[in-house]
Amino acid sequence: MTAPTPLIAGNWKMHGLAASLDEARAVAAALAGGVGAKATRVAICPAAPLISRMAQALAGSRVETGGQDCRAEASGAFTGDVAAEMLADAGATLVILGHSERRAGHGEDDALVAAKVGAALRAGLEPIICVGEALDQRESGHALSVVIGQVRGSLPAGLAGRPFSVAYEPVWAIGTGLTPTTPEIEEMHRAIRRVLGEMFGPAADRAPILYGGSVKPSNAAEILHAAEVGGALVGGASLKADDFLEIIRALG
Ligand code: PEP
Repeated sequence: MTAPTPLIAGNWKMHGLAASLDEARAVAAALAGGVGAKATRVAICPAAPLISRMAQALAGSRVETGGQDCRAEASGAFTGDVAAEMLADAGATLVILGHSERRAGHGEDDALVAAKVGAALRAGLEPIICVGEALDQRESGHALSVVIGQVRGSLPAGLAGRPFSVAYEPVWAIGTGLTPTTPEIEEMHRAIRRVLGEMFGPAADRAPILYGGSVKPSNAAEILHAAEVGGALVGGASLKADDFLEIIRALG
């Protein structure tokens, strides 16, 4: 099995103006100064208007720039939407797709997420595909079946042999300060790893499975060292360079 390259990605959501680029620059400077393991990939995914300036600010650094969503179509009359090729053209190398805030707030289902993944791949972007159960689904004992269903439905066959990651983000853990127990995280990540193998064969062993949901400096070490956790998708704690760097450091 080829071990995945760990990835720590910051999801800035709808936060950040030009002045916030200083936080990204501080992350890049600290990594250049030796913070974090050399093998760890680090990305920041700002809102679309900042992508181009973020990519310029981070040019030549170890920090990659990502988008937070894209349209499945390549172009057209879709006011307010952004095509994958536009993200790539602006300097993004990755894109978050199927985030629960998109699934819940914009009615995105697995089929649409899979179509967006296809668009991302055609544009040369590396997708970070989010899955995760709601609280009632966990409490009723359906977390595993819900998440495995999302993995099977949201990851198209075209991912075979391409770089991608899956982010397991329990909806009830996002922005709440709550997190699953370490055994619960490991159980889910092992199940996702098994299904990726069934879907894509041994090449999928290279895809990191990220954990997301209230990762912060105080819990990062335990989460990041859990079995099959190949990094993190970090929301609130990625907005401040100091917190984000603490999380990167926790990976070792
Ligand atoms: C997220 O939005 O992807 C996320 C994990 O948010 P937070 O870290 O703030 O819970």
